[in-house]
Amino acid sequence: MPALFLGHGNPMHALARNEFSEAWRRLGSSLPAPRAILCVSAHWYLPRVAVTAMPHPRTIHDFGGFPRELYQVQYPAAGDPELAREVAALLAPLPVELDQSWGLDHGAWVLLRHLYPDARVPVIELSLDESRHAAEHYRIGERLAPLREQGVLILGSGNVVHNLHAYAWGDSSAAAYDWALRFDARVRDCLLQQDAATLVSYESLGRDALLSAPTPDHYLPLLYVIATRRAGDVVDFPVAGFDGGSISMLGVRLG
Ligand code: ZN
Repeated sequence: MPALFLGHGNPMHALARNEFSEAWRRLGSSLPAPRAILCVSAHWYLPRVAVTAMPHPRTIHDFGGFPRELYQVQYPAAGDPELAREVAALLAPLPVELDQSWGLDHGAWVLLRHLYPDARVPVIELSLDESRHAAEHYRIGERLAPLREQGVLILGSGNVVHNLHAYAWGDSSAAAYDWALRFDARVRDCLLQQDAATLVSYESLGRDALLSAPTPDHYLPLLYVIATRRAGDVVDFPVAGFDGGSISMLGVRLG
């Protein structure tokens, strides 16, 4: 099974038909049918490692100030408690909470609604443990790699460049900032050159990285995906472009 990192950006992309949503739809229909999806979402960022383990995860509208229509979106995919236990076993002896209260946040469903509109594939989420360094996130991702052999689609959901202070609200076609373009290009180069070490130590890449990833949450899901890389995996970018000047919508497919 390939592994994906996708930029989700503004939650309104859930309702939109635009270049990004069309690219997600094409991507979903081009992939082999997964047994289940393991989503590592930027929006489940907490001080522990947890995996959703309920049979029916709720759709979480974890944002404020958007149109009512967006709060009515439901993504009724089943969970997969057995897969959640497998994930915990793969990560042992790391303590992993089998969570019964979270569900699918918009990092998951904004994308899944376009990738798999019929919601027939079970979905679980893995949290991002905010107390861990980037290298530890990468190592957790390495432990999850065997799931790809078992038909599980590993989906990292974040954004390579995510700076809401600089974001042009209401002007999605605003020109991208120079620092955003440079950082996005740097990440692509590293991916193509299989330079995981530079991607893990992104915080040392200077001002462009500081502006592009002012907080780690939207960048870190990328590390989980590249950590599952196998010899022979090809890398391509099925989605690209910027939203509002400071959000990269870059999508990465491995394998
Ligand atoms: Zn987000």
